[in-house]
Amino acid sequence: MSAAPPDMPPANAMDLHDRAALLASGERSSEDLTRDALAAADRLNPALNAFIEIHHDAAIDQARASDQRRSNGRSLGPLDGLPIALKDNICLAHGRTTCASRFLESYRSPYTATAAQRLIDAGIVVVGKTNMDEFAMGSSTENSAFGPTRNPHDPSRVPGGSSGGSAAAVGANIVAAALGSDTGGSIRQPAAFCGCVGLKPTYGRVSRWGLVAYASSLDQIGPITRSLRDAALLLSVIAGHDPLDSTSAPASVAPPCPSHAPSAPSTSRPEPPTIGLPRAIRNSTGNHPAVNAALESAAHAFESAGARIVEIDLPDGRDAIAAYYIIACAEASSNLARFDGVRYGRRADIGPSADLEALYRRSRTEGFGPEVQRRIMLGTHVLSAGYADRYYHTAQRAREFIRRAFQAALHTCNAILMPATPGPAFRLAEKTTDPLALYLEDVYTVSVNLAGLPAVSVPVASAQIDGKSLPIGMQLVGRPFDEHDLLALASTVMLRTR
Ligand code: GLN
Repeated sequence: MSAAPPDMPPANAMDLHDRAALLASGERSSEDLTRDALAAADRLNPALNAFIEIHHDAAIDQARASDQRRSNGRSLGPLDGLPIALKDNICLAHGRTTCASRFLESYRSPYTATAAQRLIDAGIVVVGKTNMDEFAMGSSTENSAFGPTRNPHDPSRVPGGSSGGSAAAVGANIVAAALGSDTGGSIRQPAAFCGCVGLKPTYGRVSRWGLVAYASSLDQIGPITRSLRDAALLLSVIAGHDPLDSTSAPASVAPPCPSHAPSAPSTSRPEPPTIGLPRAIRNSTGNHPAVNAALESAAHAFESAGARIVEIDLPDGRDAIAAYYIIACAEASSNLARFDGVRYGRRADIGPSADLEALYRRSRTEGFGPEVQRRIMLGTHVLSAGYADRYYHTAQRAREFIRRAFQAALHTCNAILMPATPGPAFRLAEKTTDPLALYLEDVYTVSVNLAGLPAVSVPVASAQIDGKSLPIGMQLVGRPFDEHDLLALASTVMLRTR
């Protein structure tokens, strides 16, 4: 299968702040920016398949309303009038919310997710819903019922997943920012593959209300952007307590970083910042050489900026993967029970004589793709009588061990530096026949979700592979509710693309 290569994203593409300045100066209107985004989506989507749905008319209506507010002197703030995209597991009371599943192919949510609503209340324009792995289960966006998304840097490669459509849309500069969700790496890994910034906030930082649940104790919504300052800005709008999500935290939200974040946090914390480097990850033979080189350069950049580097020990990422896939599948098997063709989802046509049990079975067999079925079965098995102790409870103990190890490490350093992924974007179909190989993609990301910590993935370098320049991302993991300092620190290693 071949696809026409899309236009390369311009290296100096504007971020949300730049675009907001154009609106403020009157150089462009929201309708101009929105028409540009829609035109880019229409032009590139046949090659990238980044969008499941493009909201042409609604986006123009929202843009005109924003322009109207601005001309009346009632602009809602820095996001007012800026086009962005939403991952298709974030409910919107407009259009469809499919989670890239046949089951929800024609599902229309009666309400809008809190995080999306907060952005809409701040005036953003939603240009469309982005492609993803079905129900956010995957690391390549190949598990979508609507076909895979392709990487804008090399269309023969995956964009990562599960928020691959959001990352491809930002990486291809269709929009400057998008929301994704991260249960075990689904914001950070695709951001790394597509050369974007991807922020997974602290668990509880952003309301999960209206995010179609995969694994509720791990899921977080977060931004995928072109700059750290945009990630900070979007986080400041979507974060904060929501009475509709009992796990959302009351912790106050720090204001966005200054336009150009300083290389070290400007808080009262004693200088210089200390960066932890996990000993076992350094020079791991499991990493692509370009990733190991980028990790060393990032550590060096921190040292040059005055930071202290300390080696730390963390639990083996492969144990974290085992614990993660048990816990995530267990929670998924329970969360996805609601999709039965009666309460939610497409109903199988089984004829008048069949019973309810048969209706459930046929609807779920026809509606769910193979990876979702595999995880429901795995999750049901690890929770079943006789096995729960061996698998589920052991995984919960491992999770607690991992959480404590990260907590202890973050007592000795301000942030932990590690790769976002073991290698750059891989080829389409390279890992589809081997689920375990695909699960290993998450070796650096899942521990962070198990520990509930914030982490940001930033583009730090690119590797020349097969004549293409593929982005390499590094990850910084921070202390709970300390996204502000984390983003400031990350500016030390971020590749300057703007
Ligand atoms: N790749 C991981 C999984 O398939 C993470 C997915 C996610 O973060 N939604 O579970």
